[in-house]
Amino acid sequence: MAKTVKVKVPDIGDFKDVEIIDVLVKPGDTIEKEQSLISLESDKATMDIPSPAAGIVGELKIKTGDRVSEGDVILTLETTKPESNTEQPADKNEEQGEKKNKQEPQKKQAAASTDTASQPAAPVHSGADTEILVLGAGPGGYTAAFRAADLGKKVTLVERYPVLGGVCLNVGCIPSKALLHVAGVLSEIDELGTHGIDLGKPRPDPAAIRRFSEDVVGKLNSGLAKMAEQRGVEVVQGSGVFSSPYSITVTHEGKDREISFEQAIIAAGSQAAALPGSVLNKNDPRIMDSTTALQLDPVPERLLVIGGGIIGLEMATIYAALGSSITVVELMNSLMPGTDADLVRPLSKRIGKRYDSIYLKTKVTSVKPETKSIKVQFDGDKAPKEAEFDGILVAIGRRPNGDRIQADRAGVRVDDRGFIPVDDQMRTNVPHIFAIGDINGPPMLAHKATHEGKVAAEVAAGEKSGFEDRVIPSVAYTDPEVAWAGLTETEAKAQGIDYGKGQFPWAASGRALGLGRDDGMTRILFDKETQRVLGVGIVGVHAGDLIAEGVLAIEMGADARDLGLTIHPHPTLSETIGFAAEAFEGTITDLYLPRKNRN
Ligand code: FAD
Repeated sequence: MAKTVKVKVPDIGDFKDVEIIDVLVKPGDTIEKEQSLISLESDKATMDIPSPAAGIVGELKIKTGDRVSEGDVILTLETTKPESNTEQPADKNEEQGEKKNKQEPQKKQAAASTDTASQPAAPVHSGADTEILVLGAGPGGYTAAFRAADLGKKVTLVERYPVLGGVCLNVGCIPSKALLHVAGVLSEIDELGTHGIDLGKPRPDPAAIRRFSEDVVGKLNSGLAKMAEQRGVEVVQGSGVFSSPYSITVTHEGKDREISFEQAIIAAGSQAAALPGSVLNKNDPRIMDSTTALQLDPVPERLLVIGGGIIGLEMATIYAALGSSITVVELMNSLMPGTDADLVRPLSKRIGKRYDSIYLKTKVTSVKPETKSIKVQFDGDKAPKEAEFDGILVAIGRRPNGDRIQADRAGVRVDDRGFIPVDDQMRTNVPHIFAIGDINGPPMLAHKATHEGKVAAEVAAGEKSGFEDRVIPSVAYTDPEVAWAGLTETEAKAQGIDYGKGQFPWAASGRALGLGRDDGMTRILFDKETQRVLGVGIVGVHAGDLIAEGVLAIEMGADARDLGLTIHPHPTLSETIGFAAEAFEGTITDLYLPRKNRN
């Protein structure tokens, strides 16, 4: 039966009084569901407002140039199937309509990002509580939940903590980078002395620095909570475990809640690995993991970092800047094991001068906390038998949480390390259950998790999607930073790949010299035949930002000429990428190459 309904401006995020720059329909038009009705433009974005239903346009209530906010009536529509952000019937009083609109899940559709208005949440067909249940609200989980909601799915996001963002936002990438920023500034202040400025000795206040980092995290936490609400994602706090292939039991404050789903996305992440219990007393606040170390309480005079990987070295950078004397102990024969030695060398050289000691090929055999210090025994090449410290950071890697969610009750296979294997579409061995992020395997990186989150959500929503990226970049935000993407030289040699190499030392970069940081190098590996980029490695300040060009080059199948002929702004560190390509081609003029290497 035809009904006349009012079509209103839905929730458009934080925007108010937004100008209508175009009215795309006129009275009498027959329109489809989702057809754009008006275009809005704010100072930040342009967005189209789609029709919530098919029908015939009645009266227009707005015109080009008008300013509108959420709830303003756009037009009346004669429709047989009234839906979503329509208010019906047209003669119902405004207040009732407003209330109704506030409760409608579909209203959140237009929280839609500015250029891709999301679909109204689809109904649950199977009688399940939700269409897609996402377990874990880290970068993988919240991305999957938001994308699925944008694709019209009814989504429930289960998270054991009261805030969204997971390890990365709350106790990982974001707070550590905020602290590393402070550490970087402290180290620059120190170095200004050699450039003619003496600012005296900085007096860092760890509590205030911690507050700065907590503020950053807090802002992002509230942004995520708001975006979940805008999209109509139901957030359920509690610890979830599978109770069957189609349900999860969520426990919060002693109460259980069973949630049934049509499809699930496991995004339960990972946790810091601990040393075997016999070696450590975990209750001693002087013995930290990467989470407690972010508290900067205490800042030990003598800090032992167990583990010379990325997380250990980043935390060491922070504590060194705050005044701790650092010792690093690493089981393998190099720092950041697995990374090309020439990329790690400038970092080893710099911290070798600044840290108290770096012991490679060394094992910690015992840790004895005593009242005044912690006695640690080592077994290794150059390490003493025993040494004393005031604090210890254990950074020996992370363990996936696959064996903590009763995956077996859903029939989901978990390997013996706790990872949940998936295919390119992020499906586990149980086709309606997906797994993304740290829990499905290395590299344990936030940008891998978010990308996989989108793939899983799209596949679950019936889209053709898959993880088809060629490379996942890695960055150590140490000082200097180390970044790489694609084939490493170690891998190329091990696999017998016939590669060519272009390298540019930052000692020849005007910008690096001007920054007082010529301790860097940019190196690109090329396929000898096609000259395509196979891998990029960069060490130096801001290497983490620079690697993005390398990633794009590999994704786009760029070759040496593409990079060499790309005009990079001068003087920037980005030039070193073009120069490395030119060095490979033999066309570089910013270095002297022997005649046989010129082209
Ligand atoms: P997580 O972020 O681990 O999120 C999983 C979520 O699931 C958590 O919120 C957890 O509480 C929740 N959860 C787990 N089990 C349950 C359950 N049973 N019920 C309910 N909820 C549950 N990566 C980078 O790319 N760049 C960096 O600079 C970087 N820096 C880092 C620095 C540190 C100190 C650390 C520790 C990690 C860093 N990482 C970095 C790694 C990054 O944090 C992870 O790769 C990323 O968080 C993984 O995302 P995820 O969504 O898979 O899982």
